[in-house]
Amino acid sequence: MNVCVFCGSSIGTDPLYAEAAKSLAHELVKVNASVVYGGGNIGLMGILADEMLSLQGKVIGVIPDFLMKREVGHTGITQLERVSSMHERKKRMAELADCFIAMPGGWGTLEELAEILTWKQLGLIYQPIGILNVGSFFDPLLLQMQKMVDNEFLIGSNFKSIKISENPQKLLTLLGVKSN
Ligand code: AMP
Repeated sequence: MNVCVFCGSSIGTDPLYAEAAKSLAHELVKVNASVVYGGGNIGLMGILADEMLSLQGKVIGVIPDFLMKREVGHTGITQLERVSSMHERKKRMAELADCFIAMPGGWGTLEELAEILTWKQLGLIYQPIGILNVGSFFDPLLLQMQKMVDNEFLIGSNFKSIKISENPQKLLTLLGVKSN
């Protein structure tokens, strides 16, 4: 089982975010699930990857060449796939993933979450998508999504299909991630 995680290339202000990344790694290793992620060694991405590796978990990174050249690629992970563009990266991550989780982050995370939700809405992918709502980080975004539903720009069932929890173990259960 491969779980694709979108998360910040920064660590954020609250230590809760890094703790959640470590806790997610523990829960993933417990059920023998691997991480697919953006391949970076910085921010929450680096913390998640390092924690997985310290627990002997498998980590697959998919990184575009231009980011690798900026030396932000994590060279110690189980498998690092280099691709030519951001678009190719997302396509490859989606091919590898059995489900998706968004953790706190910035533009990159937001863009990845929005694109994968759009692909699902269009029937281009079918895997479940979850939000790890650490410290209510995503509450304003969820309110915005509800506003899109209320104003009939977004179908309610598409919004409801997102699995949401602040607890990594609960989120993995909602996403149907089980031991393999
Ligand atoms: P952000 O939320 O803006 O920090 O961006 C994080 C997301 O964008 C991650 O899920 C990555 O897939 C991608 N990303 C952004 N910056 C980097 C980086 N320096 N190295 C690898 N991936 C990155």
